[in-house]
Amino acid sequence: MRIAVLSDIHSNLAALEAVLSDLPAVDEAWVLGDTVGYGPQPNEVIVALQALGARSVLGNHDGAAVGTVDTRPFNPDARRAIEWTAEVIDANSRAYLASLPEVRTDGDLTAVHGSPRNPIWEYIFSDEVAADCPAEFETQLCLFGHTHVPIVFVAAGTDDVEPLASLPDLPVELRGRRALINPGSVGQPRDGNPAASYAILDTDADRVDFHRVRYDIDRTQRLMREAGLPPRLAERLSYGR
Ligand code: ZN
Repeated sequence: MRIAVLSDIHSNLAALEAVLSDLPAVDEAWVLGDTVGYGPQPNEVIVALQALGARSVLGNHDGAAVGTVDTRPFNPDARRAIEWTAEVIDANSRAYLASLPEVRTDGDLTAVHGSPRNPIWEYIFSDEVAADCPAEFETQLCLFGHTHVPIVFVAAGTDDVEPLASLPDLPVELRGRRALINPGSVGQPRDGNPAASYAILDTDADRVDFHRVRYDIDRTQRLMREAGLPPRLAERLSYGR
């Protein structure tokens, strides 16, 4: 089975559309949370995911938009954007976001936004944090987002992981190993590359590969300015930071 793995779309419809038109034929699409927040088109992004039949989990921004996650840890720009989001989302979006589970498990896959032990808030940036994770999920693979940085951590031994490069067009062979996979961010990449990021997981070949897609960043930035969203949030899209 081929699965499109998307995360951190952050209401960036232009980025999502570019990714959807770049996708190969897939059997399923999994979305690892933070579908809304920061960007200008939350309702349109949710409709697109519904049309795709995406299997999604709840991110911190998604919960904040519907009042189920505390916004106190948010920085001022993120909080302003989520307050704007909470005002503009329609009944369909509100119901969709409120229905999302924190953890989704199916077959060999577990999906969370942050980490398996703290699905909403924990960031898996370091090898040290990643090394604690294999004990926290049961399946072969755990898909995660939240950091906006594409990476694979392969479990090595009982309490260690090996980080593997996630370069475009260089497939990572999983070979039955347990692993944590972050596809990077569709709508607000932070690894210095402004192109939208996503991954394709081939469960038969036991292989994941990463893709980057350029999109119309100006379009998203213009809509953010028109909506009165914080300028810094629009500017960072140009740099992928
Ligand atoms: Zn995010």
